[in-house]
Amino acid sequence: MLVFKFGGASVKDSKGVENLLNIVKKFSDNLVIVVSALGKTTNALEEILKLSFEETDKCINKFEILKSYHSNIINDLFPDKNNTIYSEIENEFKKLYNVLFEEKYDSFDLKYDQLVPFGEIFSTTIVSAFLNSQQLSNKWIDIRKVLITDDTYREAKIDMELTKVKVDDSFNFKNDKIYLTQGFIGGSKKGFVTTLGREGSDYTAAVLANLLNAEKVIVWKDVEGVLNADPQYFIETEKLNKISYQEAVELAYFGAKVIHPKMLKPLHNKNIPLYVRSFINPDGPGTEIDCFKQYDQDLPIFVLKKDQMLISLFPKDLSFVMEDELSKIFKYLSEHRIKVNLIQNSAISFSLCIDNANSKAKQLIERFKEDYKVLYNDQLELLTIRHYSDDAINKVTKGRKIYIEQRSRHTAHFVIR
Ligand code: ADP
Ligand code: ASP
Ligand code: MG
Repeated sequence: MLVFKFGGASVKDSKGVENLLNIVKKFSDNLVIVVSALGKTTNALEEILKLSFEETDKCINKFEILKSYHSNIINDLFPDKNNTIYSEIENEFKKLYNVLFEEKYDSFDLKYDQLVPFGEIFSTTIVSAFLNSQQLSNKWIDIRKVLITDDTYREAKIDMELTKVKVDDSFNFKNDKIYLTQGFIGGSKKGFVTTLGREGSDYTAAVLANLLNAEKVIVWKDVEGVLNADPQYFIETEKLNKISYQEAVELAYFGAKVIHPKMLKPLHNKNIPLYVRSFINPDGPGTEIDCFKQYDQDLPIFVLKKDQMLISLFPKDLSFVMEDELSKIFKYLSEHRIKVNLIQNSAISFSLCIDNANSKAKQLIERFKEDYKVLYNDQLELLTIRHYSDDAINKVTKGRKIYIEQRSRHTAHFVIR
């Protein structure tokens, strides 16, 4: 049994959905197919949610644009206008409208999780119906009833034991060979929809593979495989043919978004290989990620995390930043779910590099100002080089201002502008 995952880029238009069909047709194995929202739908839904509090007209306008985007894709894929897909998607958009304007929620995060998952519901309903219309029989699974989580909205934790029971029941391969379901979303024990964090569909695929003891997972991407740098930011890149789980987790953790950092653990635990392959060139070999003992090439790998903030704390009375102080700092970070990408300390200072994506960073600074003198810089980049050489470092740091530099045996990190 194989698990496939198709991201938004692979199904951004009707051609993409047809391409998915052609890829799936090449395989005769039992399959679980995990699909994300079409194209940039999740971003659009986040914007619609924000506008719903501020500007109703603009919000409705964006809502209509999103609806037309889905309607156009359905029109291309289903020439028979009596196909039930038309009313099914219409109904889901009505539910989305209700969540936006009719229903009341206790918190922003709770509302987010009732709203944003519609992207995955639209996409999987369309893709599943399309495959069925093309004689690729498959069963649509509502993962909101199967993947059970706690109620940490927007970053829900999966209850693996409860989920295992439901997964075995739903994906039993008794009458079906192919199942199609949503990534990124789940359901809480209280009956609310939850999300696993942005880009979480990769993670869903890995969890299902783990629970179903899949033979392998293939994530179909817009690149040939895992490259030694993000082709969006680096001109010359090379594909890595085989890398270890450990290598992959280092790359993913420090920002190589081709793989979600959380997906490696469930696969590693069951020794399930992960293949990153191209949906544009589906016959290409891609990259294999497995328990290879050693990294098989000495190629430097560059990983870039943008929009970073570097915050440095100095005790006002020149006292040392010791265990007690550190424990207070980390307690705050943990309570506010702020991920630290890099830390550096001296006797009388402590610096941390964090994502500057939301208002959490500003609140953090205000909180720290109560106890410390605080200096910070934003709009920085965290550059990680695995298997670095002097040449590789020069190539990417020349002419840049370096704020922090750290080197271990295999990895160099630079916080730079
Ligand atoms: P999905 O559509 O499945 O969510 P993503 O967009 O998250 O896919 O991941 C694919 C993107 O990851 C590529 O378009 C590429 O820009 C980016 N990327 C970042 N680092 C790497 C890397 N080392 N190798 C390949 N792609 C990378
Ligand atoms: N659609 C979700 C997102 O854009 C999940 C995913 O694509 O992995 O974050
Ligand atoms: Mg992704």
